[in-house]
Amino acid sequence: MARVYNWQLQREMSYWYPENRPKRQFAAIFDINKCIACQTCTLACKTTWTSGKGQEYMLWNNVETKPYGSYPLAWDLNLLGKLGAQQWNGGEYPGRTLFESAEAGERVLGWRPEEPDYAYPNHGEDDCAGQVDAGADVNIPHLSWFFYLARICNHCTFPACLSACPRGSIYKRPEDGIVLVDQSRCRGYQECVKACPYKKVFYNPMTGTSEKCIACFPKIEEGLQPQCFVNCIGKIRMAGWISRPDEARPDNPLDYLVHIRKVALPLFPQFGLEPNVYYIPPIHAPKPFLQQMFGPLAGQAIDAYRAAKDDLDLAGLLALFGSSERLMSRWKREGEMIAGLDDQGAELVRVPITEPVSIRPAYDELYQIARVNCP
Ligand code: SF4
Ligand code: SF4
Repeated sequence: MARVYNWQLQREMSYWYPENRPKRQFAAIFDINKCIACQTCTLACKTTWTSGKGQEYMLWNNVETKPYGSYPLAWDLNLLGKLGAQQWNGGEYPGRTLFESAEAGERVLGWRPEEPDYAYPNHGEDDCAGQVDAGADVNIPHLSWFFYLARICNHCTFPACLSACPRGSIYKRPEDGIVLVDQSRCRGYQECVKACPYKKVFYNPMTGTSEKCIACFPKIEEGLQPQCFVNCIGKIRMAGWISRPDEARPDNPLDYLVHIRKVALPLFPQFGLEPNVYYIPPIHAPKPFLQQMFGPLAGQAIDAYRAAKDDLDLAGLLALFGSSERLMSRWKREGEMIAGLDDQGAELVRVPITEPVSIRPAYDELYQIARVNCP
């Protein structure tokens, strides 16, 4: 095992291969507060990449309702139980990662779902935690809650799938950090399926190989965001590039939100993979639940998010989500307007931070008609 530095744990950890970061790392931010579970992202991916034989059950993108939803069944609960208690010491995680907890002869602590575990991708949908007594829905605050968790492959910095593959069939592209399965090398041993804690590698029984989210790399290479991003109805997603914290650029939207404002957090950082999809936590869910899921900064992230209405930079960046099909590697604010820029600094899109409201007059003088603005 090599020693590598995982900034999400603020410490060195053991990993199967030496640290070898890509030239730049593909990453994403999902604002959970805006997701409506319409599953448009799920279908955008499904119809683009997994409509073939043997792929029927695959959802490279899925959206599950927390706390009870999960696809495959209990993907998170199973592993959290195996890993045991996870304690943070401030921002540092002194506990053991999945690599450090691996059983003898294994490279990663993992488990492989059975076929029925994939059978009910929407189980638990809209089920809330806590009791909804008569009238509870109209009395605020009440103690019942749920939220939607959209998930894709995290294109991890230290991928468990890659480290577990005995054939060396999984690789991380040096130019953008996207993690891919080489279909010509894969022999379908499914060690990756067992190792990925997020269960984002899938076995195709028709081809006898494993398949996974490819971050729509043909689009990335053209400077475009992936299908599940540009089709997102709630405009919850932004794709881009993330730097190490010591190299964070304030004019990079993802660096700014993750490293500088710390409003977006990784999913189960204690697993040790340094995942590269970051989440703005839901403001209404209990903090202990969110801290287990997103790490010790969950409370601070929510406080920062709540204050965004008084913070033009933060509010502006949130307005950029879903505003362009192009990848935005830079941003700038001019007064009440926010702009997304490409690598060369050319402007791709410009949006108002506060959307203008126009109210039509009830009587149209030009056409001499009365308008009815209500249904
Ligand atoms: S999320 Fe899973 S499949 Fe994706 S890179 Fe990480 S370990 Fe591999
Ligand atoms: S398309 Fe967007 S809003 Fe709809 S379920 Fe997917 S992530 Fe949520």
